[in-house]
Amino acid sequence: MPERPELDHQRGLLEALLVGAQIAGVEVQDPVVVRHMVEGAASAALVGQVVRTVRRRAHLLLFDLEGPAACTLLAVHPMLAGRFSTHAPGTRRTRDCCVELQISGLGLLRYRDDERMGKVYLAAAAQEAQVPGLAHVGMDVLGPDFTPAALAALCARRRDQVKNLLLDKAALDALGNAYADEALFAAGLHPKRRCNSLSAAELAALHAGIVSTLAGARDEVARRQPPLDAKLRDFLVVRNRKGAPCTRCGAPIRVCGVNGHDAFFCAICQPDTAGTSRIPWARPPAP
Ligand SMILES: [Zn+2]
Repeated sequence: MPERPELDHQRGLLEALLVGAQIAGVEVQDPVVVRHMVEGAASAALVGQVVRTVRRRAHLLLFDLEGPAACTLLAVHPMLAGRFSTHAPGTRRTRDCCVELQISGLGLLRYRDDERMGKVYLAAAAQEAQVPGLAHVGMDVLGPDFTPAALAALCARRRDQVKNLLLDKAALDALGNAYADEALFAAGLHPKRRCNSLSAAELAALHAGIVSTLAGARDEVARRQPPLDAKLRDFLVVRNRKGAPCTRCGAPIRVCGVNGHDAFFCAICQPDTAGTSRIPWARPPAP
């Protein structure tokens, strides 16, 4: 799924393409992904609107619109497989195309999603907090408010597993499964550690791990400038690398479950020091 580094990059590309441009038409190829929070069909709500800004909050991209029609906030949550792409007018639509916007002077902007799990919300600006996932957006982990002390205060109030905290968009803006695993590896913390069991040194390592992982990924994506519809992940060191040697110690990367999510980790570099799990992670996996 696109996470913050990809979404921040896509936000910049979309902003450069769209700000000041007018929506001249809209085709909904799969209504299952569209949620109408304003009256009327998609065309009545969108045609004639001009894009003013493109923002990212949590794992959504938000298009602020201005004009005579009702939709002044187009919010897209790509979930697992959603992506944007641009095309010349008249380009044949693929099966994964869900929504197509005709943009004056640009061509076609498509939202494609072969899993159909993402959502496109047609809303008014005043309804932003009613868009699922936007009522409470947590601390910007790359902003000045996200300090080691702020993270420590957050962890002191929670007894859930640390990976669960990292995935909580109402607490932290924002990590998904992939970057949560990478941040925990950088911090040397087992994904099942309880938040309120972390020592001051572990909290400092977690803070540094989150910031270095997300800032590093942001910089790598900015350096390589992938196209709008690409997902650049080849630099991740634990996510989706089950059985591959740890880049630090050579032990095989393992997977465990945390609250319905999988977590990739190294049992040597991220030992289960608190003994929260009955599984002897440090023992090599059975063949
Ligand atoms: Zn290791």
